[in-house]
Amino acid sequence: MKVLVINCGSSSLKYQLINMEDEKVLAKGLVERIGIEGSILTQKVNGEKYIIEQPMKDHKVAIKLVLDALVDKEHGVISNMSEISAVGHRVVHGGEKYAESVLINEDVMKALEECVKLAPLHNPPNIIGINACKELMPNTPMVGVFDTAFHQTLPDYAFTYALPYELYTNNGVRKYGFHGTSHRFVSAEAAKMMGKDAKDLKIITCHLGNGASLCAVDGGKAVDTTMGFTPLAGLVMGTRCGDVDPSILPFLMKELNLNVDEINDLINKKSGVFGVSGVSSDFRDIENAAKEGNKRAELALNVFNYRVRTSIGSYAAALNGVDAIVFTAGLGENSGVNRENICNGLTYLGIKIDAEKNAQRGEAMEISTPDSKVKVFVIPTDEELMIARDTKNIVASGK
Ligand code: ADP
Repeated sequence: MKVLVINCGSSSLKYQLINMEDEKVLAKGLVERIGIEGSILTQKVNGEKYIIEQPMKDHKVAIKLVLDALVDKEHGVISNMSEISAVGHRVVHGGEKYAESVLINEDVMKALEECVKLAPLHNPPNIIGINACKELMPNTPMVGVFDTAFHQTLPDYAFTYALPYELYTNNGVRKYGFHGTSHRFVSAEAAKMMGKDAKDLKIITCHLGNGASLCAVDGGKAVDTTMGFTPLAGLVMGTRCGDVDPSILPFLMKELNLNVDEINDLINKKSGVFGVSGVSSDFRDIENAAKEGNKRAELALNVFNYRVRTSIGSYAAALNGVDAIVFTAGLGENSGVNRENICNGLTYLGIKIDAEKNAQRGEAMEISTPDSKVKVFVIPTDEELMIARDTKNIVASGK
């Protein structure tokens, strides 16, 4: 069985075709600049690139080209579109309705439309992508896999904001959490690496990329997460501020005469490690600047790491203990220096990092010492594989 995984953004689209027998990626690709000048599709098969540059006025044209690239005689990996048994779509917001992935039908499409107000930037392109696929592959089953779903097990006291309760019941204002597919994948992988049933473990997963979030996983279920009503909350991120005193926003709006869009832009695009350092939103640039003596770059890294460390401490409290900590995503997988800085302040939990292992890169591995009370892992995330597995299981079960 071959599953096509699609992750549709407003002007870009990522895809992978995965053979579910051995979970091997047959082809992966990226389409950029959909609907704007300079549209380009880049497909990779065994490291070899195939590039299509031609106007793509919308997502339907882009997805048609993806299918063409996959069946291309010279550069493709399948001979016919009918070899694609199912399509798995990444969907950002499933609201409170979806605690699991779901086979897409008309009712699901309606529910996704209802979630647009909760994720006005993300759900519309996801919906456009699903509709385009439905038109091009009307007989192929499609599955929706939600970023929010894994966090639907949070207890009410963890997801409720201390605002008037009607804002939850009438307006849906609560913590939803994001990156759920990644947290689910790496927490399950950690349990496998420990040779234990996830049911018996308390795990804190740290997804540290451009967007960053932590999740407390108890017995395989999420019990708290740092992102909130939107992916702006919690940790400090590349350009997002994470948690700040909410009163700062009306203060700045008055003081600097900013409107709602301007303040939104400031907290989403001009803040985070970019805002503090003034250097870049890319951690590699900031690490380099800090090495060269840039004090604001050093401060940005310290602010970032301190927030991760104190959030891990707070989740150790939420879980009443912790068996394993997992680092994943761009920074979590690649930056031994930051992992070390985060873990150095966690010795009270009995965490000891093996410096040599922590300096390695690439594979999933344990980086704690044998006598560390808490195991620490680096596990590359694979949201596409998780989406493909869900898609396969749902289609196979006929649910
Ligand atoms: P997203 O999917 O949210 O865009 P990623 O998970 O791809 O983010 O992570 C991107 C981030 O990871 C970038 O800020 C980048 O600086 C950081 N990163 C990648 N490799 C390294 C590295 N070797 N050292 C430090 N940071 C890294």
